[in-house]
Amino acid sequence: MEDEIYISLGGNVGEREKFLCSAIKKIADKMNVLAASSLYETEPWGLTGQPNFLNAVLRVSFGGKPEEILKIFQEIEDELGRERKVVWGKRTIDIDILLFGNLIISTPALTIPHRYLLMRDFFMVPLVEIAPDVEHPLFDGKISDFEKKLPPQLRTIINIKEDETWRSITTSLLKDQ
Ligand code: ADP
Ligand code: MG
Repeated sequence: MEDEIYISLGGNVGEREKFLCSAIKKIADKMNVLAASSLYETEPWGLTGQPNFLNAVLRVSFGGKPEEILKIFQEIEDELGRERKVVWGKRTIDIDILLFGNLIISTPALTIPHRYLLMRDFFMVPLVEIAPDVEHPLFDGKISDFEKKLPPQLRTIINIKEDETWRSITTSLLKDQ
């Protein structure tokens, strides 16, 4: 059986909805998209003084290794015009791997579960929206319980952003299953 993989999309440059919509379409060309969260408008985390982000989480299935899926995501980031200048800085699209089944990886190129999974509401809230019972493979407990314990000063989500294009892409992708 293929692993259930959860990935995060985020961007804060230009027409953010368009970049997230292009990203999910490109991802769907390479793997099955099994679930998609709403779009969340969030304040920048870690490096302030930059535009707000739009974030979402997807569940996908993929037959290959984590390094292979990371490479696909980096190619999509490049195609969508991401410039790697500043860590945590503004970007058209950032695609991060949050969970890859129960796999645990800790190398400089790849840390799974994502090293900030339990510190970012913009990872946990959309993840819990599409996977209420998902657990953390390293720490005992559901992501939803960790999310509830996140202190207010780490919270960045402003609201859910309704977007007709995102809604229609995700609805049609999920109907194809
Ligand atoms: P960030 O996502 O932390 O804002 P980048 O997208 O620029 O920063 O990623 C920097 C590096 O993080 C990538 O080159 C990649 O090799 C590495 N990385 C480590 N773990 C992960 C992960 N779980 N998902 C995506 N990239 C990761
Ligand atoms: Mg990244």
